[in-house]
Parts: sequence; structure tokens; C-alpha cells
Amino acid sequence: MSQEDSLSSEVGLDTGSLSAPLVSGEVALVGAGPGAADLLTLAAAKLIGDCDAIVFDALVSDEVLNLAAVDTDLIPAGKRGGRPSASQDDISRTLVELAREGRRVVRLKGGDPFVFGRGGEEIRALAAAGIRFRVIPGITAGVAAPAMAGIPVTDRSVNASIAFLTGHEAGDDSRVDWQALVNAFPVLVFYMAARNLPVIARRLMSAGLEEGTAVAIIGSATLPGEDTQTGTLATAASGELTAASPAIVIVGGVVAERVAWRGELPGRGK
Ligand code: SAH
Repeated sequence: MSQEDSLSSEVGLDTGSLSAPLVSGEVALVGAGPGAADLLTLAAAKLIGDCDAIVFDALVSDEVLNLAAVDTDLIPAGKRGGRPSASQDDISRTLVELAREGRRVVRLKGGDPFVFGRGGEEIRALAAAGIRFRVIPGITAGVAAPAMAGIPVTDRSVNASIAFLTGHEAGDDSRVDWQALVNAFPVLVFYMAARNLPVIARRLMSAGLEEGTAVAIIGSATLPGEDTQTGTLATAASGELTAASPAIVIVGGVVAERVAWRGELPGRGK
């Protein structure tokens, strides 16, 4: 029996609505969306406002955390204010301990918990420990950031498929088959790509994409300091195209279909 089979226990079965109040000893793995509280799901907003402890990642915005009740314990689990990030095992252990104390726990992650978020590891740990849990999906940054910038991630005239990737994998030890990637996917959305953008751009051009291929980088989508810059693979490779972290990079013809819809703020409408 595979590990997956042995973990498909009943502890995660949902018996009520997603936004029903948590019971004592239950954990909700909740997606916080890209930042703005307006983009939370109803279930996320309700559970954040009615729980005993929130274990949150660095990317969760203050605006979202401010929805917590005053007596809720706010427990940082990621890098914030220069603190080193907790290991994944420590985070899972914290969740299990809080639940065993009978607390109603919200585990809050930026975007969607299962998109480059290690949410899978956390629910496997909860299931293995016999903890009751539920999962509330969130709007992932790879979709939200382009939308806020007026870039449709699919457009009938441009692409019938899309790839979501991490930009961490662009270095010399890259496990990505760049040739296969550009052959298969007309549009590429990179998470965690701000620092590696020039390398990524060079790899994509080596794999055959034209240097004039449109690129956008969207930093801090829906957060204060949101910044969208557009250019080409050539300007990305030369280091001209930058945005502060966290940032999403999107490459392909959909970027050229952009309709900036949120006013003429600096960096927009180019
Ligand atoms: N689970 C998250 C992704 C976590 S990985 C999700 O579904 O969105 C962290 C990366 O997400 C960042 O490096 C950045 O690429 C992206 N990201 C998260 N929030 C963002 C935001 N507000 N604006 C732009 N990119 C963001």
C-alpha cells in the first residue's frame, strides 16, 4: 500500500459547510489570496474572524490578519521581521500540538495553500496525527496578479494551455526541460522569479523563444506598493525589468493583450 493510500483516512471528511464554525481541536488550512482582504473567500473571512489561533506565513498581509478577533493568538510561521523561518516539520508539529490542546486553529497561507505552498505536507501530517481538518482554497497569485494588471492568463486568440512554475529552478542545476516547456506552453507563469528573471529570460531565448516575446512582472499584487512592469525577453535578460518581491512573472502573447484597468499609476499602462 502506498503512503497516499494509508493516509486517505476519514479525519479530513467535511461534514458541514466550509464556513461552519471550527470545532475544538480542528485545523483549517486556509488560502489568504494575494493580499487584499477583499479577495478572501467568505469561508476564509469567517474562520479568520472566529478561531483561537492563527499560524500564518510571511506572505499573509496585515490587512488579512487584522480580521482576527483581538483574543486570537497570532503565530508567525514564516520569515517576517528578519526572523528565520520555521522548518516545515516544526510548523506541522505546532499545528498538531495546538489542535491537541483543543484549540480551533486556522493555518493561513498566501494565495492557495496547495500552489507552491507545501499545504500537502501539512494535511498529511494532520491526517497522520488523526487531527480533524478542512481546506479552504484561495486565489493564487499566479492568476490574481495578472488579473489585477489586466492580463488574461488565457486568451482564446493566444493560448489553450498554461504552465505554472517556480523560478527557483532556473540556476545551473535546473531540472526544467526548457525546450519541452516552450514547445508545449504558449504562456508561462513563474512564481518566486523576481531574482532569477534575467537567467530565466536567457534560458527561454536559448530554448527558442524570440527576444521580442512579451513579459510582465507584477510585484506586490493587491498590496501597497503594487507595481507592474512590462517588457520583452530581451529587456528581462538585460536586467531592466524588475519588481520587488513578492512578484509574479508572466511570459507570452497574453501580456500583449493587456488592458490596464486600474488607473494610471506609475508603471501601469505601458
Ligand atoms: N501559495 C502561494 C504561492 C507561494 S510561493 C499562491 O498560491 O499564490 C510565493 C510566491 O508567490 C512569491 O515568490 C510570488 O511569486 C508569489 N506571490 C505571492 N503573493 C504575491 C503578490 N501579492 N504579488 C505578486 N506575487 C505574489
